[in-house]
Amino acid sequence: MEIIANDIHKGNLLLVNSEYPLLKEDCHDLVYCNDKVRIKKIVYQLIEMIKEDLGMQDDIVYVSGFRTFAYQKKIYDDTLKTHGQEYTAKYVAKAGCSEHLLGLAIDLGKKMDEIDYICPELPYDGKFALFRQKLWENGFIERYQVGKQEVTKISAEPWHFRYVGYPHSLIMKNNNWSLEEYHQHLKAYDHQHPLRYKNCTIFYLKPLEKVNTTASCYQISGNNFDGCIVTLFEVESHE
Ligand SMILES: [Zn+2]
Repeated sequence: MEIIANDIHKGNLLLVNSEYPLLKEDCHDLVYCNDKVRIKKIVYQLIEMIKEDLGMQDDIVYVSGFRTFAYQKKIYDDTLKTHGQEYTAKYVAKAGCSEHLLGLAIDLGKKMDEIDYICPELPYDGKFALFRQKLWENGFIERYQVGKQEVTKISAEPWHFRYVGYPHSLIMKNNNWSLEEYHQHLKAYDHQHPLRYKNCTIFYLKPLEKVNTTASCYQISGNNFDGCIVTLFEVESHE
């Protein structure tokens, strides 16, 4: 089949930050996680599956998910008023610059009586360590990590996870790459010289570039700035 890189602003791997903002939110396939928080269905289903597998249904709270452009602007303006410039610049993105517009980012907190809605607590130890590990294995990245502030321009946010899909999350974890760094590395891999990970083949395509493949399954995602990433999945034969 033929794969064409025709939409660089669509997909699970979009990079959204202060340098590459979005003009509009993506409100497709959203479901409610609780009475306030909405998120893309795939994200909700995976997190619920992990919670259930680990018996953690009552330990995790969905604090913030999908946000509209207008709502992100309101959070920014309100935080600026109540907490000032320095705090706001650290933790809240300007309207088009937040991943929450994608519906693929979720802020998760430990269930407790008082939850801080800007900076919820999510431990790294005990059963939460296992929960975090399962998130990486199922296509999520801890998007703003300690030591990556120079690259992401956002302070460490141990509660903010971004769905990018398998195996991208694990490649980023194994190499200690932020999403910004991953996209820079991916540009070195083309169809002839792809990045390989287990049964997956990954490469970069320029806008409107085409390739032919015999792979049984593929995904394509824009990077939101200058091209697309193709992921081919080879299903193992059991004959
Ligand atoms: Zn967040």
